Amino acid sequence: MRFSPVAEISRHALLHNLERLRKLAPHSKIMAVVKANAYGHGLTTLARWLDQAGVNGFGMARLEEALCLRNEGISARMLLLEGVFSEEDLELAAANNLEVAVHDVEQVAMLERAVLSRPIRIWLKLDTGMHRLGIQPEQFSAIYRRLSALTHLEGDINFMTHFAVADEAENPETARQIALFNQLTRDLPGERTLSNSAGALVWPAAHGNWVRTGLALYGGSPMIAGRPQDFQLQPVMTMKTAVLAVRELKAGEPVGYGQSWRSGRDTRLAVIAMGYGDGYPRHAVSGTPVLINGQRLPLAGRVSMDMMTVDIGDAEVKVGDPVVLWGKGLPVEEIAECATTIPYELLCSTTARVQYQYV
Ligand code: PLP
Repeated sequence: MRFSPVAEISRHALLHNLERLRKLAPHSKIMAVVKANAYGHGLTTLARWLDQAGVNGFGMARLEEALCLRNEGISARMLLLEGVFSEEDLELAAANNLEVAVHDVEQVAMLERAVLSRPIRIWLKLDTGMHRLGIQPEQFSAIYRRLSALTHLEGDINFMTHFAVADEAENPETARQIALFNQLTRDLPGERTLSNSAGALVWPAAHGNWVRTGLALYGGSPMIAGRPQDFQLQPVMTMKTAVLAVRELKAGEPVGYGQSWRSGRDTRLAVIAMGYGDGYPRHAVSGTPVLINGQRLPLAGRVSMDMMTVDIGDAEVKVGDPVVLWGKGLPVEEIAECATTIPYELLCSTTARVQYQYV
């Protein structure tokens, strides 16, 4: 019997979500965003599955993530969403047929100085409202002119932007960002990408040539007021473990560090093998749902490093019974809400001691 957490990763769910996105954005190519170890799911296996399923390309934050996939023999298009910051990395990107975002004048100057072994494909990132990375609208013409003069570019200059509030379906800011992007890039050649998962799900005007989807591919809902089932997405990761111990607790007795929770009645507790040392959020409040034998039961007391306790009352539970922390039957969004965080953070937080089972 296994008493340590296992992240079960479903190929079927991943391919189902890919199909959903293809249907939702039928005129766009799908760029699978696989940064941060494919949002905690395992970079190389997920990328291999997606590549075999014909995904059009990959997006990642760091050069190392892309080089890892090239070493795995994946030859699809890959975009470094933050670009590169040294001539050495620029040459590595070019030599490995990686595409780079250009969001800063320093990167433009670097491209002007560079002597590359082969041409490089670039994406000019425009800041249309996120104010994190990107060229300001007033810098656009001058920078576009400088980039157009380069002789070592592959194809046209492509364009991208990133949304700040696309997860709020009613917020007019996204329409404003789309309009500004379209206005700046009107009549210019090159490909366009604006949308993250939220854009792909609910902003068809922003589908462009590519949608850059992370969370939705993994079966999560990026929408603030939305669940994956609203978009017929299936969770790719199911975090599972087992019951370590079952014990009695008298009314009025506390449990765990800080004695932060006391039972209002005579009850039973299940101690389960999962804690913040595995990536379960320590800030999950008492009452956060846990599935034991398929029954929804409330977390009781503080989450500790290796364990957590669940108030099981007179539910049928015994040592070794299966537990689901999030995934199939228990949306990760619900757990994220109970821990005042977002599904992205939970999925990325799985620690090295969690075993992965690819099914
Ligand atoms: N594009 C960029 C530039 C990103 O930084 C991210 C993720 O943060 C994505 C796309 C994918 O976002 P999502 O996981 O919401 O689809």
